Order: sequence, then structure tokens, then C-alpha cells
Amino acid sequence: MTKESTLSPEAAVYRKIVPAGDYWMEVVRKGQIFRIVDLEGNQAADTLFYSAADPAERYSAVDTIREQRNVYLSVGTKLISTQGNPMLEIVADTVGRHDTLGGACATESNTVRYALEKKCMHACRDSWMLAVAENEQFGLTKRDITHNINFFMNVPVTPDGGLTFADGVSGPGKYVEMRAEMDVIVLISNCPQLNNPCNDYNPTPIEVLVWDRA
Ligand SMILES: [Zn+2]
Repeated sequence: MTKESTLSPEAAVYRKIVPAGDYWMEVVRKGQIFRIVDLEGNQAADTLFYSAADPAERYSAVDTIREQRNVYLSVGTKLISTQGNPMLEIVADTVGRHDTLGGACATESNTVRYALEKKCMHACRDSWMLAVAENEQFGLTKRDITHNINFFMNVPVTPDGGLTFADGVSGPGKYVEMRAEMDVIVLISNCPQLNNPCNDYNPTPIEVLVWDRA
């Protein structure tokens, strides 16, 4: 399902381009609207959410899937925390669906999925670990890195329940937009992955925009 936003980029209170391989870690306040734009298409934005008031409460893939009875995330999806609270709601989406089953790329999984010599290649988990180390004010450590959302990524589930990593369903300029239902710490790794068809083997920048309460 897709739905366009009514918000204009000129009215945003914050805009930032995040290159592939970089991270974005900021607090989005309750009521603010937050958009991620897939500037060139087929990118993956591997994203974690924590409650800013108590980061022990964080995004839960299993609670989100169970509550909406669907494995894909799109317009109307409430992103549910480990304590059963809605953290954000997807309010606009021009892609149609996003993955929360595939997990993030890591140097270890790269060696299993692709080849042993991929071990030294930069992965999303490295970007997250750098982010928590460089942002001590949030009180997070690498132990807090948990299941995530892969915005723009296409991981179709087959009729018999298999997971497949497929070419992206996103495209240049497509975006997903969420309204925060609590103050949230958002941690995005803009995926540096060079081995996965989800980003067409070509990692590209994303843009993050934030609007105050509409
Ligand atoms: Zn990645």
C-alpha cells in the first residue's frame, strides 16, 4: 500500500543527507514527523528505535508483526516497543512495503552469505557500533543493538515461509514517513553493503527530514 505525504520539504525544520556507509543518530520528539528519502533508489536504511526516556524500551519486530498480523511494514503500521507501546506510526509511504525480518548486515554474516574474504568489508553493524560509541549521551552500548527495520529493502516471504533477498521495490525519490508517538532515539545505518541485490550492489545516499507537529 502506498500513500503520498502532504508535507512539503521546504517546511521541514531539519534536513540532512546521509551518505552510504554513514549513520544518523538523533532524537525525534513526540508529534514530530520524520521522513527517510531513498534519493537514488534501491538503498537500504537499517534502522533501530529506542525510547529516549528509557532506552531499555526499544523497537520490537515480533510485537510489531503480531499486532498488525503482517510481516511487511507500510502505511498504518504502528512500530511497537518491547513493552507493547506504539513508538511511531508510518503515515506516508511511496514504496509500499519494508522489511523487518532480514536483519542487518554484519561482517560475520557477510562471510556466511557471500565469501570469507568479505570479513573486512564495512557492514551496518559496524556503523551502529560506531554510532553508540560516538554518542555516549544516549547511554547505549553494542549490547543494545537488536532487531531492526530495513527501510526500502525487499525481502519477500515465499508461500512456504522461505525468505528471499530480492531486487529492491524502491526507486529514486521514494520515501517513508513516520509520526513519533513518543520521544525516540533514531539510529539509521545507511547500508554500505556491496554484496546484496537489495541495493543493486550500489550503495547511495539517503535524506532525512523532520517536521514539527503538523
Ligand atoms: Zn547493511
